[in-house]
Amino acid sequence: MKDDTKLAAAGRPHHRPAHPVNPPVERASTYLFPTYDDYLEGAKSITYGRLGTPTHRALEEAVTALEGGFETRLAPSGLQACNAAILAFVATGDHILMTDAAYDPTRKFCEKFLKRFGVETTFYDPLASKEEVAALMRPNTKVVFAESPGSLTFEVQDLPMLAEAAHAGGAKLVADNTWSGGYYCKPIELGADVSIQAGTKYLAGHADCLIGTITSADEQTAKKIYYALLQLGSNVSADDAYLTLRGMRTLSTRLSRHQESTEELIKFFKKRDEIDRILHPALKSCPGHAIWKRDFSGASGLFGVVMKPAPLPALKAFFNALKLFGMGFSWGGFESLCLHVRPEQYRTATEWREEGHVLRIHAGLEDIDDLKADLERAFAAMHAALK
Ligand SMILES: *Cc1c(COP(=O)(O)O)cnc(C)c1O
Repeated sequence: MKDDTKLAAAGRPHHRPAHPVNPPVERASTYLFPTYDDYLEGAKSITYGRLGTPTHRALEEAVTALEGGFETRLAPSGLQACNAAILAFVATGDHILMTDAAYDPTRKFCEKFLKRFGVETTFYDPLASKEEVAALMRPNTKVVFAESPGSLTFEVQDLPMLAEAAHAGGAKLVADNTWSGGYYCKPIELGADVSIQAGTKYLAGHADCLIGTITSADEQTAKKIYYALLQLGSNVSADDAYLTLRGMRTLSTRLSRHQESTEELIKFFKKRDEIDRILHPALKSCPGHAIWKRDFSGASGLFGVVMKPAPLPALKAFFNALKLFGMGFSWGGFESLCLHVRPEQYRTATEWREEGHVLRIHAGLEDIDDLKADLERAFAAMHAALK
C-alpha cells in the first residue's frame, strides 16, 4: 500500500458485524478480566489504562504503517518521546552524541538533567563528515541523536552515514523526524534504530493536543523503549490519541498544501529587499540540500528567513502588524505562524554568524494571497517605523 492509502486504512476497527469507521475513544484505567485464565494471559495487549487502550493501539498501528519498523509507542509529548528514547539506552558513565541543531529542550535534557546522573553529551556539527563523527565516538557512546532538518536552522543530516557510524561503535541512532511528518522521510529505512515525532505538530495537525511517537526498527530496541516508558510512568490520554489519529487521516492533503504555500512564500521572500537568506531544505543554498534530495520525497511548511539587519523597533512594528501569521510556539497546525528565533543562543559545536534577525515561518492552510498581503502589511509597518 502507498502512504496515502495507509493513512486512510490503518488503525481502523474491523471486528463486530457493524463497526464505526473510527476507533471510539476508550477511556479506562482498569480493565476487568472475565476469567482467571484471561487474567493470566493479561488479555494480550490490553491490561491497564496506562499501558494503552485500543484507542492508543490504533494510533500506534497507523504510525508504524507510516514510519515502517517494528512498533510504535506513544509519549505524552514530543519532548518526552525524545527524552524517553535517550533514557532507554543510557546509564551512568555513558556518552551521547547529539546534533548541535537539536530542539533546545531535548538538548537541555542531556546538558542539564542527564549530566546530574553522570551521562555526558558531546554536540556535533549537523553537517559533520563521517570521519568527524567517527572521531567523536567513544567506547561508551550509546546514542547518536539526529534531528533532520535541524531546529531553527534546517541543516539536513546524512542519516545513513550517521547510522553506520553509530552502529560501528555499538550505539543506537535516534532520529527526530518531526519536520517530515513521517511522510516525506523514513529514518528507519535509512538506518535509524528509532524514529521520533512530536505528533503535536503535523500528525495531530490542529494545534490542540500534545503527543509524541516513538517508532523502533526492531523488537530488541522496541523492548527497551517500552520499559523506559513503563518505568517512567508515562501516560497518554485516549482523547489525545484519538485526536492524533483523526489528524493523520488528512496528513497528506494538509502536507501538500503546506508545501505548495511554502513554495509561494519562498518566491515572495526572494523578491523582498528586507530578506537576506532563506533557510529551507528544498533550496540549493540550504546546507544538506543534496541529502534532502536523496532522502526526502517532499518538503513541509516550516522554514526560516534571515532578515537584513534591522533595529528592534522595526522588528516590533513588523510583528505587531501581522494579523494572520500568529506569534506562537509549536507549529504544524492549520494556522500560519511567524516567530523571532535566536539560533546563536543554542549552539556550542558550531557558530551561528548571521547578523540579521531570524524568523521561523510556518505556512498554514489560509489562502496564499491573504498570507502574502499580511506580510506586505508587516513590511510596510516596518518601513514606517524606520522613518
Ligand atoms: C516541538 C518539537 C518537539 C517537542 O514536542 P512537544 O510535543 O512540544 O513536546 C520535539 N522535536 C521537535 C523537532 C519539535 O519541533
